[in-house]
Amino acid sequence: MDIIFDLIEKERQRQSHGLELIASENFVSENVMKAMGSVLTNKYAEGYPGKRYYGGCEVVDEVETLAINRAKELFGVDYVNVQPHSGSQANAAIYLAVLKPGDKIMGMDLSMGGHLTHGSAVNFSGIQYDVVSYGVEKETGLIDYNAMREVALRERPKMMIAGFSAYSRDLDYAKFREIADEIGATLWADIAHPAGLVAKGLLNSPFEHCHVVTTTTHKTLRGPRGGMIMMGKDFENTYGHKTPKGETKMMSQVLDGAVFPGIQGGPLEHVIAGKAVAFGEALDGKFEIYAKQVKSNAQALSKAMIDRGFDIVSGGTDNHLMLVDLRNKNVNGKETEKALVLADITCNKNMVPFDDKSPFTTSGIRLGTAAITTRGLKENDMDTIAELISEVVDNIKNEEVIVGVRKKVNELMEGKNLFNY
Ligand code: PLP
Repeated sequence: MDIIFDLIEKERQRQSHGLELIASENFVSENVMKAMGSVLTNKYAEGYPGKRYYGGCEVVDEVETLAINRAKELFGVDYVNVQPHSGSQANAAIYLAVLKPGDKIMGMDLSMGGHLTHGSAVNFSGIQYDVVSYGVEKETGLIDYNAMREVALRERPKMMIAGFSAYSRDLDYAKFREIADEIGATLWADIAHPAGLVAKGLLNSPFEHCHVVTTTTHKTLRGPRGGMIMMGKDFENTYGHKTPKGETKMMSQVLDGAVFPGIQGGPLEHVIAGKAVAFGEALDGKFEIYAKQVKSNAQALSKAMIDRGFDIVSGGTDNHLMLVDLRNKNVNGKETEKALVLADITCNKNMVPFDDKSPFTTSGIRLGTAAITTRGLKENDMDTIAELISEVVDNIKNEEVIVGVRKKVNELMEGKNLFNY
């Protein structure tokens, strides 16, 4: 047997024994995994259902159509493209569909909670486009919509991005749209993180306000790693994409063309099948119970952390994640992440707004409850987790104490399947 399978088993053990608090991770069901590890991986299918560039696509056409229809039902939208290989690919397609290189965009600053693809200088979005950004208020940790409007009116970006990787509050999409309309900008929402909660109506819906919406499928949505593009309602695009006959295309056509052949070749039909299975699961009533539990676990964890003297940015959470500012504990994000890993608790170091440390050190950590909720943990476990984190942070250089915490973590996770919901 190839040594790779020993490594996969080792990783399964690591995931089983530990507490997974990385906000962007989750555990997929056996059926999602079965779909991903299927013969569908053998099939080339450039194009879209009914319009392929390869023969033998009758079955994968059905797979992809099912994924699209389930996503439409789940989010209540008119248009879905399930082909993006990742969240970043979905986002790249939006840039290609809406902008020309050099155009101006406005996204949340990476150091304030935005994502690399929202205009970071080291990402294609920051390299190929002119970037202005918005952030949060220093006192409250909340998005400063007034400052955002001022910058938008002055800089007049062609596209605005409503989305985040590390912001624990809901977004006011109506407010974003009001500002975008004042300057005639396209409004794109990236709901990669909270998609599962949005699907179940537990957070504001972006669809009636935003022109286009992207997501990943593997975070709170609990599907395979991948991306997706959606529109509440298709519309005649106004971005100069004319056909050779001078006709204006519908935005759905422009977006489909931006994904394939714009930035990708053949779709990953085995992953698309995994997406279809996950959307089917998310349409089930049990997923609503799961999504509600994710949210209430996050609130319980945030409260338990605050009770132990931790500074949670913005004072709490509306979604599945929170940012912990560790400066009052005299430790940094890097050493905390490392010590927690030793205790079998995984999370990631993260910059906090107005951080005085570099992205490699950081003053904070980001915690999320999507994965631990899938494993069946409830509100009362959140108090235990906050206590364990507190023990590690208070004894960051004491390996003996940290190994003691690891034992307690392993006991807590004993007998809990990876997928328990
Ligand atoms: N958009 C946001 C808001 C994200 O948080 C992420 C991933 O963390 C992505 C896009 C990119 O997703 P991927 O890692 O699949 O490219």
